[in-house]
Amino acid sequence: MQGEIEQRIAQLRRQLQEASYAYYVLDEPVMADEVYDRLYRELQELEADYPHLITSESPTQRVGEKPAAKFFSVKHNIPLYSLENAFNLEEFAKWQERWQRVLPPLTPPYQGGGQESGLQLLNAENTSITPPLGKGGLGGGYYVCELKIDGSALALTYENGVLVRGVTRGDGITGEDITQNVKTIRSIPLKLNSDNPPPVVEVRGEAFLSLAVFAEINREREEAGEQLFANPRNAAAGTLRQLDSKIVDRRRLDFFAYTLYVGTKKSEVESENNETKTHWESLELLRKMGFKVNPNRKLCNSLDEVREYYEYWDEERRNLPYMTDGVVVKINSIVLQQQLGFTQRFPRWAIALKYPAAEVPTIVEAVTVQVGRTGALTPVAELKPVQLAGTTVSRASLHNSDRLALLDLHIGDTVVVRKAGEIIPEVVRVLPELRPENARLFAMPNCCPECQQPVVREKGEAVTRCINTSCPAILRGSLIHFCSRDALDINGVGEKFVQQLVNSNLVHSVADLYDLTAEKLMNLERMGPKLAEKLVSSIDQSKFQPWARVLYGLGIRHVGSVNAQLLTERFVNVEDLAKASAASIEGVYGIGPEIAQAVYQWFQVPVNQSLIDRLIAAGLQLKSAVNSQEKATESKSLPLSGKVFVITGTLPTLKRDEAKDLIQKAGGKVTNSVSSKTDYLVLGEDAGSKLEKARSLGIAQLSEAELLSILAG
Ligand code: NAD
Repeated sequence: MQGEIEQRIAQLRRQLQEASYAYYVLDEPVMADEVYDRLYRELQELEADYPHLITSESPTQRVGEKPAAKFFSVKHNIPLYSLENAFNLEEFAKWQERWQRVLPPLTPPYQGGGQESGLQLLNAENTSITPPLGKGGLGGGYYVCELKIDGSALALTYENGVLVRGVTRGDGITGEDITQNVKTIRSIPLKLNSDNPPPVVEVRGEAFLSLAVFAEINREREEAGEQLFANPRNAAAGTLRQLDSKIVDRRRLDFFAYTLYVGTKKSEVESENNETKTHWESLELLRKMGFKVNPNRKLCNSLDEVREYYEYWDEERRNLPYMTDGVVVKINSIVLQQQLGFTQRFPRWAIALKYPAAEVPTIVEAVTVQVGRTGALTPVAELKPVQLAGTTVSRASLHNSDRLALLDLHIGDTVVVRKAGEIIPEVVRVLPELRPENARLFAMPNCCPECQQPVVREKGEAVTRCINTSCPAILRGSLIHFCSRDALDINGVGEKFVQQLVNSNLVHSVADLYDLTAEKLMNLERMGPKLAEKLVSSIDQSKFQPWARVLYGLGIRHVGSVNAQLLTERFVNVEDLAKASAASIEGVYGIGPEIAQAVYQWFQVPVNQSLIDRLIAAGLQLKSAVNSQEKATESKSLPLSGKVFVITGTLPTLKRDEAKDLIQKAGGKVTNSVSSKTDYLVLGEDAGSKLEKARSLGIAQLSEAELLSILAG
């Protein structure tokens, strides 16, 4: 165990060191920031648990990377620290508790800002002072929330109001003197806007590139056959360290200032002597001195207000012309800042609250194989649970053998997981450098894990299949699909119940569902008479579902709900469809040759023909509603049929899932992103980029009330 931990720590250090060098020195990152952050956090946690394993060259013991050799290295007047990270609001709350604990309880009680624990503000002589509230004191705010601009930190020194030095962060203690390049940035004043400037002023801020300029640079690089920058931050850092300042000038870097130190002489700047009492005032002063200060800052008095700010910008930041990757929360009072001071790497009075990652690393603990309703074998990575974009992910599909081979996946590997289409987790890549010695290569089985029959993989196909038609996994999958919401929508028939039905041999095909009685169901474990009656009645109700849903429920390859709709509009009953040639099926607008072939072949199989006969006998709708009254009922029951909806923002009364459910029940489709296929955008409060996109595409907007009134018919 100890050996394994030492091995992991050594591997993490090596990997982080390499990534850090690629990122800071070469400006060519080898992994996503979120992945780096998580691996870094893992190393920090291991080192906290095993402090005797900490070494001075560990990446956790330094701020950045050593400055590159291209420029002169200079020592910072004041170390340029990094920020501590919180990956969610719980971590932020813990940070708040931590810094509040450092300070003894307040006397008299602090009343401004709804904080539970008190604060003691101490002046330079360490005597208690009453916290000044409101104007000129804490500035009416407890925290200053700012956007975390994804750029590159700069330290600027002004002597008697004139810019004399611009330095990159480097390793936090020494950086590179890039004064010539800094002078090309138009938003950095060469001279402070002040008649009587302090003798020494040190300004820190973020140099960044707008997204438009970033895209333009990469376009030019692509044309020139050069390697593209991975993100605007690396492009900004790379630009700042160009030896030719003409190139820097052309790249139109921008700068937001966020820290101000003022001194009467250099030595006083070092003691962080400030003219202002609050950080908010410093930002105002920076603005007056001629700097660009990000306007989206806010004074917040409580955790709830910080949450509001954080959540608001999570959506809204997508509309900004530059990249942000979180918010930075800083304690407003300079006195408090000075009291809390710094750790080796961070100020204790500020924290970066990052947005949920789209990609995270985790460990593959096992690989299992699932058999779907088509018999396809899908390898699934069983993962060490990890938070990803707001949910805990513990499994991810590995798709098929080809994908497995491409990934070269071993059990025990550290992999990067992301949410495909923001919903389904998938393994993007393996980090082979972190592979433990005992890792085992995973190979697909030769037999079906459910029925133990040999599996086949046809030439040219990536999928391995079980072809045993009585394989219980295929039956289970078919039943679940048949009963699912978009198919026969049978309430209460979920995965567990289906498992019971198959295990107890009560059901061998979907048609058997209609032979079930309450008495038969009573033999199942934990089944009471009421539940049994309810299930039978739900199954009975499904006989009224329209023909298109039944066709979709049959689970014919390539026949999703849209294709089922198209087919049933042209073939008004199952007999017509069953005797149609592949060519006439292909004649349906929107149906391609592969789909037509799959449908045609399905109806040629005798077992499928008898399944249809049994479904007709059970009374299911295998034809379109014929008379006008039936048609009216069908279309009335589905007022949103064929319409595509996107929901954005917070709706006044409905939760997103509830709205989605209502739309789907009324025959509508809900997708995640706005496109030309979207019919309506359902709009709540704080809508973000989706609204912009919908506007640009001229898509109709609906309020919740309008949606509900359409649904009410
Ligand atoms: P950081 O980016 O997480 O946070 C600190 C930095 O935030 C500051 O130095 C400053 O430059 C910036 N910042 C932006 N807006 C600010 C504001 N309003 N107030 C204060 N600061 C603000 O930490 P870091 O130490 O600069 O860099 C570590 C980051 O670099 C990590 O997040 C990591 O993802 C990334 N990194 C990535 C790789 C990789 O391989 N992808 C390698 C090394 C580091």
